Amino acid sequence: MSRPYNFSAGPAALPEAVLAQAQTEFMDWNGTGMSVMEMSHRGKDFTAIAQQAEADLRELLSIPKNYKVLFLQGGASAQFSVIPLNLLRGGTADYLDTGIWSQKAIAEAQRYGKINVVASGAADKYTTVPARETWQCNPNASYFHYTPNETINGVEIHDVPDVGDVPIVADFSSTILSRPIDVSKFGLIYAGAQKNIGPAGLVIVIIREDLIGHAQPDTPVMLDYKTHAEHDSMYNTPPTYSWYIAGLVFKWLKAQGGLNAMSALNQCKANTLYAAIDGSGGFYRNPIAIPYRSWMNVPFTLPAEALEKQFLQQATQAGLLNLAGHRIIGGMRASIYNAIPEHGVQELVQFMQAFQALHQSL
Ligand code: PMP
Repeated sequence: MSRPYNFSAGPAALPEAVLAQAQTEFMDWNGTGMSVMEMSHRGKDFTAIAQQAEADLRELLSIPKNYKVLFLQGGASAQFSVIPLNLLRGGTADYLDTGIWSQKAIAEAQRYGKINVVASGAADKYTTVPARETWQCNPNASYFHYTPNETINGVEIHDVPDVGDVPIVADFSSTILSRPIDVSKFGLIYAGAQKNIGPAGLVIVIIREDLIGHAQPDTPVMLDYKTHAEHDSMYNTPPTYSWYIAGLVFKWLKAQGGLNAMSALNQCKANTLYAAIDGSGGFYRNPIAIPYRSWMNVPFTLPAEALEKQFLQQATQAGLLNLAGHRIIGGMRASIYNAIPEHGVQELVQFMQAFQALHQSL
């Protein structure tokens, strides 16, 4: 069976091999007579699944021993509140504003303490990131927060910023596992699962141990990292099925050659798509400054809004799904996460070229 390519920004495409394996195991996991969905989260079968998933993630990202990996709920959005509640420690925090998701993180953090926006891409309509020299950082901030990949705007910061000794907190929702990262440079990394990890319902937090245990006193127990760290993310019932599928994705990534292999592939896919956009003579346009173009989310526009409906309809007929841009910024957006193979991007490019040939002269 040939499936269409799904360019959704999230929930997003999962590797076909993972879906096939989940299907095989759906009714009866490993001879237990149970679906993973039906297992006790405290039983030995699910505990083994959970531990293996964590071990594989640790291996993929080379996570140092002094970091805890938490498998939580509430999405990345809940982390927008959980982070200040746990890390502000009565102080202030620095935030970099690079687009819609960092704005949301800032707005939420402002409810809990004094937030210093070190720089903002707003004046440039978030098409670039202000130069590091212009950032107004506070060396005494409790933490520095940024969004390495802005899913809606398609802006990616490809290197980890240098902010001295201030712990870096990063929302990796739409770029985690797309390439290797040096986890030791971060105090906390968080990522909603529904793009590069697995199904929605799970958010992964990788936190340096010394940052745990400092939540403000009225923090709800479910929002205190200490609670989850002390209970191996099993204080309450975790999202077991999402955790299991994430584990299958981690195994699949290892089988692909790990994150170095994914990085090469993702760079190649992004290059192919940006080259097609830039080579279209202005028919397709991507507004993002070249050094900050996202490898994962590629927004682009057509010469006239009237063409967009046709583009989307015909793309769907050609088996290229979910190319509409985010409702806030419009246009098109192709999300080309790990599960989109190279030939998916090639088919998209061929479709774009054929569509242009047909409509350019009209
Ligand atoms: N941060 C980023 C960068 C995102 O892309 C998203 C979701 N698209 C979120 C946060 C919010 O995630 P969730 O829906 O899991 O709360």
